[in-house]
Amino acid sequence: MNQTTQKTPLPAREMFLLKMGEIVLKGLNRKSFEQRLMGNLQRRLHPFGKFRAYCRQSTIYVEPINDECDLDGAWEGLKQVFGISGLSRARSCPKDKDAFVEAAKSYLGDKLLAAKSFKVESKRSDKSFPMTSIQLSQYVGGLLAEAFPHIKVDVHNPELTVYLEVRDFAGYVHANPEPGAGGLPVGSGGKAVALLSGGLDSPVACYMMAKRGLSLDMIHFFSYPYTSEEAKQKVLDLAKIIAPYCGRMNVHVVPFTKIQEDLRRNCPEPYFTIAMRRYMMRIAQMVARDIDAHALVTGESLGQVASQTMDAMAVTENVCTMPVFRPVIGMDKEEIVRIARKIGTFETSILPYEDCCTVFTPRHPKTRPTVDELVEIEENYDYEALCREAVEGIEVVKIKP
Ligand code: ATP
Ligand code: MG
Repeated sequence: MNQTTQKTPLPAREMFLLKMGEIVLKGLNRKSFEQRLMGNLQRRLHPFGKFRAYCRQSTIYVEPINDECDLDGAWEGLKQVFGISGLSRARSCPKDKDAFVEAAKSYLGDKLLAAKSFKVESKRSDKSFPMTSIQLSQYVGGLLAEAFPHIKVDVHNPELTVYLEVRDFAGYVHANPEPGAGGLPVGSGGKAVALLSGGLDSPVACYMMAKRGLSLDMIHFFSYPYTSEEAKQKVLDLAKIIAPYCGRMNVHVVPFTKIQEDLRRNCPEPYFTIAMRRYMMRIAQMVARDIDAHALVTGESLGQVASQTMDAMAVTENVCTMPVFRPVIGMDKEEIVRIARKIGTFETSILPYEDCCTVFTPRHPKTRPTVDELVEIEENYDYEALCREAVEGIEVVKIKP
C-alpha cells in the first residue's frame, strides 16, 4: 500500500475499484481486517506488475503505475481474494461533468454500441461537487443518448448501466461490476491445519475455511508404496490449485506407512479406519501446535462413509483438544462437486489415484464405535512413539499461488 502518494494523480489509465465485503460490518477492529486485506491484495498483484492500491470509504483503488502491468492477469487474480465482495474495471477522469461524458464515450463506447438500452447511475461522495447525483446522471445520460442514437434509456431494466463516481481525488466511470470472492481476508481469523487428501471434499473444505478468514497449512498422510508418488503429486497439485484462494502454504507430508502396517497387525479389522483417523488427528494436532495453528479442518460430510457417522466422528474427535472444523458436514456430494468445479479442483480430484484411506479398507467397518473400545484397542500399540516418529519424518513442501 502506498499511503503517502495516493493524492498524486496518475495519468488516466484503466484501473480497478474493489468493494469490501463483510469487513465493513466490523467495529473497532476493522482497521486490522483492512490491513490484512491490503497485504493479501499486494501479494496477489505482485506477479502482474507495479500497482498502487489504497483504501478510502470502503472502496479499494487499484491503479497500475505504468503501461507494463498485466491488467487482465491482475483482474482474474483479484477475483480470488477473499474479503472483496465486488469489483469493477474503471477509468478515472477529472471531476467535471463533460469529462465524465468524454470518459464514458471513450471507455465504454463499445459497450454503448452493443447495448440496446442503458441508464446512468451516479454516486457522489465528494459533497463539494456542484451537481446532485441525479443531475449528473441526467446530464451525462442525455449526452450519451445523443451520441449513441440507437440506444434507448431504460431506468428500470437496462441492458447496460453506466456508473459514475465522484470521489475525493478523481471521477470514475465503469460498467458491468462483477462479484468478488466474498468472505473475510485470509489470515484475519488465525491459522489452522487442514487434512488434505486427494479426494473431492477436503480441497473444498479448505476453500471454505480460507473464505472465513483462516490461513491454512495442509497435512497429507502418505503411505508409500501402498499409495504412489502420483497420488502425492495429485495432492500437491490440488494445493497449488487452491493456493490463489488460500495464499501461500506449506504441505506437511507425513510418512504414514509404518503406522498403517502396525495397525494391520494390532488393530481388529472393523476398527481399522477409525483407529487410523485417530492417528491422523493426533499427528495433525502435533503439527498444528508446532506452527502455532489453533484448529483442524477436515472434509468430512455426515453419513458419507462409515468413518463419518456421528458416533465415529465423536471417537475421532475425542483425541483432539482443538476445534475441528468440518465445513462440508451438511453438504451433499452434488453441492460439494459444484464448488469443486467452480474453484477448479474437480478434474484433479477425480483422477483415479488411491488414498491411504482406501488401501486397507475393512470389509465391515464399525459404524458405531465407542471411545472405550478404541482406548482398549490402543493398549495393543505404542501410538505415542509412532506419532512422534511420523512427525519427525515429515517432508514440508512450499506452495505459492
Ligand atoms: P476426501 O474427498 O476429502 O478425500 P473422503 O470422503 O474420501 O474425503 P475420507 O477418506 O473418510 O473421506 O476422509 C475424510 C477426511 O479425512 C478427508 O476429507 C480429509 O480431510 C481427511 N483425510 C483422509 N485421508 C487423508 C490423507 N491421506 N491425508 C490427509 N487427510 C486425509
Ligand atoms: Mg479421501
